[in-house]
Amino acid sequence: MYNVPTPANCHRWDLVETPDCPLCGQRGTLQHILTSCHVALSQGRYTWRHNQVLRELTGVLEKERKSVRSCQPRSKHTQTSRSEKSTGIISQTAGDWRLEVDLNQRLTFPDIVPTNLRPDMVLWSPGTKKDIIIIELTVPWEERCSEAHERKRAKYEALLTECREQGWHTWNYPVEVGCRGFPGGRL
Ligand SMILES: [Zn+2]
Repeated sequence: MYNVPTPANCHRWDLVETPDCPLCGQRGTLQHILTSCHVALSQGRYTWRHNQVLRELTGVLEKERKSVRSCQPRSKHTQTSRSEKSTGIISQTAGDWRLEVDLNQRLTFPDIVPTNLRPDMVLWSPGTKKDIIIIELTVPWEERCSEAHERKRAKYEALLTECREQGWHTWNYPVEVGCRGFPGGRL
């Protein structure tokens, strides 16, 4: 039980007449308000939240991409991560990375294989025709992070297999930021 003023809690505390969600009339628990209300979903509220987080992630990756491109001295943090698999991929390559994000305009998957799939982010190196990274963000109820991770990983696996058959190295990165604010370990 989280002590936040959801309709269900406010009703329990005798502050309001009804425990119901003001949008749909179902019981207004925290989980309902944050992840399960079909009216909130249809109004685009969960998409808005997802895109706010995606914007933050984009800022971080864009900074990393530009720092590689301009070959400026890297921060201590980046040097540390160079040996890792995540941003390390960007740091270790020639620096012709392109970044497409499904935010302000509809993402078009790079011209490697035809697909209708639109991941949240694609990073690829068109010059070397070598590396492609797919990043898919989910903002789930914390307890469902693993489930979301596996679902998103599976969704893009066939597409990445096709890219590999064209000679590309591929990385499939589903990332989760829980809707109560706890980033998943993979982030
Ligand atoms: Zn509702």
